[in-house]
Amino acid sequence: MPPKPLLLDQLPQDWNLGAAPAYRRQQLTEWIFQKHAENFSHMTSLPASLRQHLAANYELNPLAHVRTQGSSDTTRKFLFQLADGDYLESVLIPANPALYGGRADRFTLCVSSQVGCAYGCKFCASGLNGFRRNLTTAEILAQIMVVGRLGGEKITNLVFMGMGEPLANYQNLMTAITVINSDWGLNLGARHITVSTSGLAPRIRDLADQPRQLRLAISLHGADDDTRDRLMPVNRKYPLAQLLDACAYYQSRKNQMLTFEFILIRDVNASAAQAALLAAHAKRLNAKINLIPCNPVAGLPWQRPADVDIKKFAGILKTAGVPATVRLEKGRDIDAACGQLRLRELEAKAES
Ligand code: SF4
Repeated sequence: MPPKPLLLDQLPQDWNLGAAPAYRRQQLTEWIFQKHAENFSHMTSLPASLRQHLAANYELNPLAHVRTQGSSDTTRKFLFQLADGDYLESVLIPANPALYGGRADRFTLCVSSQVGCAYGCKFCASGLNGFRRNLTTAEILAQIMVVGRLGGEKITNLVFMGMGEPLANYQNLMTAITVINSDWGLNLGARHITVSTSGLAPRIRDLADQPRQLRLAISLHGADDDTRDRLMPVNRKYPLAQLLDACAYYQSRKNQMLTFEFILIRDVNASAAQAALLAAHAKRLNAKINLIPCNPVAGLPWQRPADVDIKKFAGILKTAGVPATVRLEKGRDIDAACGQLRLRELEAKAES
């Protein structure tokens, strides 16, 4: 028998509710998105006949929780198994716990959009085993809903910055964002949703043309083509000038500050010359910069720069008047570079 479709792969207007009256659709929406029901049998305000009809026609949750890893700063990493046996991970990151007596005031969930990744950035664990498949809309949404349940925290921000290139899974991403952003859905404002891309210039333009004020982050990691080519194969397809033009288009349509992500790697991109070039790009595009000192990944050769060089790099940006932060490496002790936990699970399976 073919597997049943996932309810969350469809928008509510497309759900097959059999002969149930229209108001049941709204009740079902509430059970799923507001009350976070784990299965159809929990939806006690729906008649038993409708619950049976739904259970016969749909699966509700596509993710099996495998384990949660926490770290000393309370960043938590959730590993899930998909119905086809592969794994994905989502990372829950608290903000400002020190300011609130140890309790965070905001929780950002880093969401995966694909299994593996085709883009092969040279510093990234997710690309090491290549691309497996796109996540479906339901698999994207379930990460948010299940982590919300397991973590017990209200998720206040989402970043599509986990495993995969979100803009290469554009249709499923945008359907998920429709649900996330709608008042009948997860009701999270577009300005609290960040889409991070390795630089798919045409899709950045598509994102600029859709109506929501989504935040855009660019994984830049090199301020000229030579440096970027060395780290990110995608740059050969969409070179820096084309990428920055697409960013300018986004800026012109959304009138919001962009973010450039920049991993600092010793002897690769952490020089004063790179900092000066980066500052020029950021000023032209009204971008702020997240500096991320390289997080060593087993099997990859990259080294973190010396602290003095990180400070010098950040100082050049500051002097140029570009907002920049050096990201605290939350979760460093839990394999928090995207894809590392999944990679370990796959390796362990291969060895057993
Ligand atoms: S950084 Fe992002 S786009 Fe690059 S290989 Fe990793 S997951 Fe893919």
